[in-house]
Amino acid sequence: MTENIKSSRVSGFYRLPIEKRIEFVKKFSDLTDEETKLFSSCLNIDIADRMIENVLGTFELPLGVAVNFVINGRDYLVPMAIEESSVVAAASNAAKIARVKGGFTAECSPPLMIGQIQVLKVEDVTEASQSIIEHKPEILRLANAQDKILVELGGGAKDLEVRILDSPLGKMIVIHLIVDVRDAMGANAVNTMCEALAPEIEELTGGKTRLRILSNLADKRIVKAKAVFDKNTMGGENVVDAFLESYTLASIDPYRAATHNKGIMNGVDALIIATGNDFRAIEAGAHAYAARKGRYTSLTTYYKNKDGDLVGEIELPMAVGVVGGAANMHPKARLCRKILGVKTAEELAMVAGSLGLAQNFAAVFALSTVGIQKGHMSLHAKNIAVMAGAKGEEIDQVADQMVKEGKIRLDRAKEILEEIR
Ligand code: NAD
Repeated sequence: MTENIKSSRVSGFYRLPIEKRIEFVKKFSDLTDEETKLFSSCLNIDIADRMIENVLGTFELPLGVAVNFVINGRDYLVPMAIEESSVVAAASNAAKIARVKGGFTAECSPPLMIGQIQVLKVEDVTEASQSIIEHKPEILRLANAQDKILVELGGGAKDLEVRILDSPLGKMIVIHLIVDVRDAMGANAVNTMCEALAPEIEELTGGKTRLRILSNLADKRIVKAKAVFDKNTMGGENVVDAFLESYTLASIDPYRAATHNKGIMNGVDALIIATGNDFRAIEAGAHAYAARKGRYTSLTTYYKNKDGDLVGEIELPMAVGVVGGAANMHPKARLCRKILGVKTAEELAMVAGSLGLAQNFAAVFALSTVGIQKGHMSLHAKNIAVMAGAKGEEIDQVADQMVKEGKIRLDRAKEILEEIR
């Protein structure tokens, strides 16, 4: 292993024993002894009982760390909680290739969330909309009275937009309350404001409010990331061309785009879960954004630059928080934020966007060259060995034999196990 603490570039990290990996992360992220002990602990049952209803216990996922990431010139170790094999290795590998040309550059818009208030049974929707616009200052004041903390931090309700929609029920008004949620994901903050505004809106419009809730299509809270993947490191310009051929299908065909975007979310979700964020919200936002132009398409774009290198870009909504929700309550979420060293929701969003791009690059790169099964199945072989009943050292023996034979199947695993025994 080559190591330079504070550089996330590590080779052979996966070959280290778990204690050595933890030691590396401890030094990199200045973790205390107490914090490193958390890696092998479970969520306290009393905390779990406060988080959801009808608690029986907790459910564990493997927590790993992707290495090699440079984002906006800074090195990151990226924590990932995920059950699928190969994802963490693939992200690390993509980050290693991106590093050759300086890593990822990322940017994101301010943390603006949209809250929707649906208004029905309005006699004159044009006049009512006008009335809402005219009373904007007092509506925003009322919204901001609900969250003094947010306002003190420079956030709060900033604007509103009024939409008139045709529906089977006739015309309805939908008000979009635009809220700067600072370092929170913001759902509770926005929902509270929307509910509090309802009586005032009914009075102004003469209508009846129904839905009062945020939109997960957080298209004012967008993260963008970009990286250049060196053609020589990829294996030559013909590999770049093969990559672009593969990518083209995702750009034109929803059947491929769904799988392509799933690959992006392999990375994004793993980080979102590790940091105690709401992965359903991120998923909903990502896929709705992928269909924003009327046809579902890829969240990434790729092209060749004048040097023949591959350029990858990603753009998607990223409603993540470093305060609120489970982000504060879950000790491992706090630990993962410390590993990352992120202090703001914007920085976390930029890491998530870069990770999504890395994950997508890794998948399309493998698909365009050796195919995805090679990397996938060698790790998966261990799962198959366990399914066949292998225990302890048998697991590696059975898995290694199957990989050697190129036959990673349950029936073969059982045969090998019998032969060993
Ligand atoms: P929250 O209400 O727990 O925390 C946000 C609050 O923290 C803010 O309103 C503010 O008062 C305070 N705060 C303190 N320091 C802050 C800072 N630096 N920046 C911003 N706020 C700060 O959580 P939330 O983020 O409003 O809501 C997230 C939760 O809502 C998640 O658990 C999510 O699963 C859940 N949720 C999601 C949906 C959805 O996505 N459709 C719907 C309902 C609830």
